[in-house]
Amino acid sequence: MRIAGPALSMFMCSCLDCQRATGTGHSTAVLVPLGALSITGEIKSFGSPSDSGAVFTRHFCPGCGNPLFGASSRAPDVRMVSVGFFAGHNDWYAPNQLIFARSHRQWDMIADELPWHETYREKRIS
Ligand SMILES: [Zn+2]
Repeated sequence: MRIAGPALSMFMCSCLDCQRATGTGHSTAVLVPLGALSITGEIKSFGSPSDSGAVFTRHFCPGCGNPLFGASSRAPDVRMVSVGFFAGHNDWYAPNQLIFARSHRQWDMIADELPWHETYREKRIS
């Protein structure tokens, strides 16, 4: 998988789906335009209704099971690439918000200065 061009946004998500998919308190993602993503080789996908009401499809490597990116029916023109995909080379990651903070758990440490949104950015809780 390759990504061309800059990220549209970098964020963390504490929705219950992300907690289940990551096995921890939040996912870390980079939002990129669909056209910026190029994929070689096989990927597997699993779609399910998300907390937002949209269908969220998670794409992963069938060989190792690592998450690659997600796609929401709510935003078909973008992809949410897992920052863990770049493990060892992701010091550039600078999240600008936490979304779905309504299901954030206290034990999951998030930087205090990061804006928290109850669901998406337009619905602030603080
Ligand atoms: Zn999420």
